Amino acid sequence: MNELITKTAAELSQLLQAGEVSSVDVTTAHLDRIAEVDGTYHSFLRTSADEALATASDVDARRAAGEELGPLAGVPIAVKDIVVTKGLETTAASKILEGWVPPYDSTVSLKLKAAGMPFLGKTNMDEFAMGSSTEHSAFGPTLNPWDTERIPGGSGGGSAAAVAAYEAPLAIGSDTGGSIRQPAAVTGTVGVKPTYGNVSRYGIIALASSLDQIGPVSRTVLDSALLHEVLAGYDPLDSTSLKDPVPSYSAEASRGDIAGMKVAVIKELGGEGYDDGVRESFEQSLDVLRGLGAEIVEVSCPSFEYALAAYYLILPAEASSNLAKYDGMRYGLRVEPTDGPITAERVMGATRGAGFGPEVKRRIILGTHALSAGYFDAYYGSAQKVRTLVQRDFTAAFAQADVLVSPTTPTPAFKFGERIDNPMAMYLNDVATIPANLAGIPGMSLPSGLSEGLPVGFQILAPAREDARLYRVGGALETALTDSWGGSLLELNGVAR
Ligand code: GLN
Repeated sequence: MNELITKTAAELSQLLQAGEVSSVDVTTAHLDRIAEVDGTYHSFLRTSADEALATASDVDARRAAGEELGPLAGVPIAVKDIVVTKGLETTAASKILEGWVPPYDSTVSLKLKAAGMPFLGKTNMDEFAMGSSTEHSAFGPTLNPWDTERIPGGSGGGSAAAVAAYEAPLAIGSDTGGSIRQPAAVTGTVGVKPTYGNVSRYGIIALASSLDQIGPVSRTVLDSALLHEVLAGYDPLDSTSLKDPVPSYSAEASRGDIAGMKVAVIKELGGEGYDDGVRESFEQSLDVLRGLGAEIVEVSCPSFEYALAAYYLILPAEASSNLAKYDGMRYGLRVEPTDGPITAERVMGATRGAGFGPEVKRRIILGTHALSAGYFDAYYGSAQKVRTLVQRDFTAAFAQADVLVSPTTPTPAFKFGERIDNPMAMYLNDVATIPANLAGIPGMSLPSGLSEGLPVGFQILAPAREDARLYRVGGALETALTDSWGGSLLELNGVAR
């Protein structure tokens, strides 16, 4: 094993800037690693070795010529297949988009290119980001590198597994209800969902437009901060993009001082239904925060009880509308019925019947029903009211504390097949992550320990536009925890130990 793959992005950045390694070396080491282990894990739907090496040698040449480059120039990255990448097949892990090679780049993709980051490939996910296990990928699941009988989380299981298995130092995820944070939790990695509007959604395949956010996946809090600085910022191509300046998240991640900060435990997230091992790990992290001088209080968010139900009306409603464009007429799959006439309606039916998997169909049916005349007020209208209540709960809670915390998920990674036939059991994975999406606030998951040998995630939530606080608290907690363990969870227990 090449030791370059065990370096963090921050370490690679220093080595590259000091001229001790080239981006071609670093990129080759990761491509070799992918070739070695991805037959087992299936983190990637496809790799883009030629493009990655071309970017790497271009960055090396520019560096040699004395050009001023950003901190992550030359550091390779894995990109979730929901991100539209010009010239690189993009499918959202759906048969309906199989073979689609986008003629344009998303803003995220352009930003990564401008930062000089080689794209290793596109990562696996649940189809159209619907799921918590990657079992809904049309191209087969990703395996959790900690235990290949278990799920890597979802929908961004591929991005999380790629980082956990040292196939990539960094990855891009998308989080509509937890798809960055939940996979991070169950793979022992760090994942951040920024404030809604902090990162442009232009060119991101839409799931639920009022909830979707793009964010970083990494092995350390500092690495997520560095990547977040590349991703964030105003984009006139996204009407929901925030005009805020991008602060130095990396400075906050390295700050280390949280004395006097108020940290509130959300009473409703962490009781019944959460594993004992998850609760113990959470309590230990609270003790560590106390030891760092933070004041721990408790807050109640009573309407969170209804957040999951509201989410599973709002998400399908928006998704049913967003997915209407896959109709066999414009791009992607087209299936013509073999019996009877070829009419637009019959082609659409045959295309969507063949192209969408069962979970996508379930949500389109649910969402279309929730939006239909006569049911709109009862379902979608009520869900939007709950959304307002969730936002009010957060406002009241943040009046009492700087950040809120909870376990990221009720349980560690579960086994393949355990929940796939029971949508409700699958949906309950996201009970602790969904409220942040409904309110548009930022959240982070970082490893807080193990439960029966499997990683457990600790969730930190901050008010909208205060993403920097996640890095301040997360960075301090991570340093204290890894000091107490004598290394990171992945270093001590991961696949590259
Ligand atoms: N697991 C959640 C769902 O299936 C979250 C999805 C996401 O964040 N993309 O809706």
